[in-house]
Amino acid sequence: MPTKRSATQPIKYKRIILKLSGEVLRSAETGDPIDWNTLERICRQVKEIHDLGVEVGIVIGGGNIFRGISGTKRGVNRTTGDYMGMLATVINGLAFMECLEGMGVVTRVQSSIPMDQVAEPFILRRAVRHLEKGRVVIFVAGTGNPYFSTDTAAALRASEIGAQVLMKATKVDGVYDKDPAKHKDAVRYETLTFIEALKQRLNVLDSTAFSLCLDNNVPILVFNLNADGAIKRAVLGEKIGTTVC
Ligand code: UDP
Repeated sequence: MPTKRSATQPIKYKRIILKLSGEVLRSAETGDPIDWNTLERICRQVKEIHDLGVEVGIVIGGGNIFRGISGTKRGVNRTTGDYMGMLATVINGLAFMECLEGMGVVTRVQSSIPMDQVAEPFILRRAVRHLEKGRVVIFVAGTGNPYFSTDTAAALRASEIGAQVLMKATKVDGVYDKDPAKHKDAVRYETLTFIEALKQRLNVLDSTAFSLCLDNNVPILVFNLNADGAIKRAVLGEKIGTTVC
């Protein structure tokens, strides 16, 4: 049974792209690529904002399973490796689909690489229609092109669907002036302009993804996925993480 959605609370972001790195799914204890308890926790957060009436597109990475660049160290051709990485995102996307549907959230998986038996092909107008109908759209297979990243896929899909924000969920709570793991006095930015981030060479997204957001005016919100109710707090406009706009 699909869940009821209502917009009783003021929502800052009505349509979002949530970028989840594949690594967020990996089990810290066993090293398994998909930790089902973690997956469930994330999906519960997605359901929370979906129930508020937020239109949610998810772009999922594949780094918990395979990255093209690491394959090259073992003699795997870069393009082949990148396709392996893109296929890894499909596995993760299907896991999200199953978990969300189990919670009563209707989803559609759209793939940038055609694979009719597994997922719909990516068709922008259809994706937007799904969002309008309250379906969570899970975008898989990255951009469909080797030599790109799923951050770039997220920036691309955010631009295409007219998302009000690209929310990049990470393990750190925002963008710092220096590495917080190495420097105790590292300071977190609450907001930054694109130009400040560029000038200070801050690693917000990879350069292709960052340029796409800059050129198409898509704000980026970097936040810690593990903080309590982080996704909901972010869409309600609470000051968490770092916003680049
Ligand atoms: N990839 C690609 N083109 C894309 C997106 C992804 O070739 O448009 C490949 C690339 O090899 C990448 C892997 O898929 O390393 C997994 O994606 P990513 O590293 O972005 O995943 P994440 O780090 O977010 O888990």
